[in-house]
Amino acid sequence: MFSLNNASCLMPTTGAGPQLFAATLQYFAAAQCLLNHDTLPESNVANFQSFDFIIIGGGTAGSVVARRLSEVKGWKILLVEAGGDPPVESHTPGLDNTMADSEFNWKSVSTNNGPIDQAIVNGSIKLSRGKMFGGSSSLNEMHYIRGHDADFQKWFDAGNEDWSLDDVHRCFKKAESLQSIKLLKDPTINKFYGKEGPIVINRFNSTKRDSTNGVLKACHEVGINYVPDLNVAGLMGCGIVTATAADGVRQSTNTGYLEPIKNRWNLKILKHAFARKILITNDSKLAFGVQVEKDGRILTFYSTHEVILSAGAVNTPQLLMLSGIGPKEHLSSKNIPCLVDSPMVGQNLQDHLVIPITVYGDGPDKKTEKEKHYDILKLAPEVTDIRPLQTTESCGVP
Ligand SMILES: Cc1cc2nc3c(=O)[nH]c(=O)nc-3n(C[C@H](O)[C@H](O)[C@H](O)COP(=O)(O)OP(=O)(O)OC[C@H]3O[C@@H](n4cnc5c(N)ncnc54)[C@H](O)[C@@H]3O)c2cc1C
Repeated sequence: MFSLNNASCLMPTTGAGPQLFAATLQYFAAAQCLLNHDTLPESNVANFQSFDFIIIGGGTAGSVVARRLSEVKGWKILLVEAGGDPPVESHTPGLDNTMADSEFNWKSVSTNNGPIDQAIVNGSIKLSRGKMFGGSSSLNEMHYIRGHDADFQKWFDAGNEDWSLDDVHRCFKKAESLQSIKLLKDPTINKFYGKEGPIVINRFNSTKRDSTNGVLKACHEVGINYVPDLNVAGLMGCGIVTATAADGVRQSTNTGYLEPIKNRWNLKILKHAFARKILITNDSKLAFGVQVEKDGRILTFYSTHEVILSAGAVNTPQLLMLSGIGPKEHLSSKNIPCLVDSPMVGQNLQDHLVIPITVYGDGPDKKTEKEKHYDILKLAPEVTDIRPLQTTESCGVP
């Protein structure tokens, strides 16, 4: 077996050097434990038990709803989540991709529908979504984007009176705790963001901010306006994104909303519990309970007030259809009795495009005399074995 202490280098050693290297490596290996995130307690819940509210999906939205509803002491809440506690990779920014093919992701793929995604093999793309507390907020890219006013206005105009711009921004502010000292110094930005919410908003650290600024300056020069904060600017322009991160650790609705209230007596939490069907009365079409699969058993829970469906953009319509709400013809083709013929359920899924552009370049104006000479050398065609130093920066997302 390879031992660091006995690693045979060519150089002589007193033994202290190898020991120091080994201790350093051990320190970094143990550092993951410093993240120290508690797991949520699994509640003891009996089959056929009744609750005031049942929430299906402890993801981004469901965790917020669970916290808010359980603030009312007289209400008993059941939170049903198909996944479990997020892994250490969730808490560590930059490791989200390592969860792509793991148990913490639903690992769905799109079907080839002819026109879309034809540049991809089989015309099918991965539809990544979190399967754990915090849902997709536990594996997303952590860019803090409030959304576009025009979309909220459209929903309001369609008759959803709670989605007025004032209400939407009031709720965002309630969720936020802006902690970037630089941004807080700007009075417009300071006024825009909330300061006391459960989700810490900051900026990613960057060791190459000069390069980023160079890219932003270039964007500005070609007509994409530089803005000090993208949310304040209504997402138009180029700038440095804010992130759901605190002290180098991911902020999700699990860490921000659920973890701090995990011991509330009136919130019962079921992990690795998959909701299969919402129970709905035939005549009045009222949801009165949920059928859940857990540890190979089918359990039934009843709700006296509401069943809240927050299972994400794909599973929410799927569960509605499994429960008899959806396009009648489609349900009949799957032998599901149709309780409510609702043709738009399962339609109109929309996602956004991301086009990453990597810019390569030398660090701006920071060259030593030696590097400048090296630059000249690089241009000499006969010199082929010298590798220029390069820095990599992504526009607006350091
Ligand atoms: C890879 C990726 C990167 C992203 N990057 C960003 C970003 O940088 N910035 C940004 O603003 N947005 C980003 N998003 C989008 C954002 O994360 C999602 O829009 C948001 O998290 C969705 O919230 P949700 O509550 O609707 O669903 P989710 O957070 O997905 O929650 C759904 C929950 O329901 C559970 N569930 C599903 N079915 C059942 C069932 N039958 N029974 C029990 N539980 C069930 C799931 O396990 C999950 O926990 C990203 C998304 C992904 C996937």
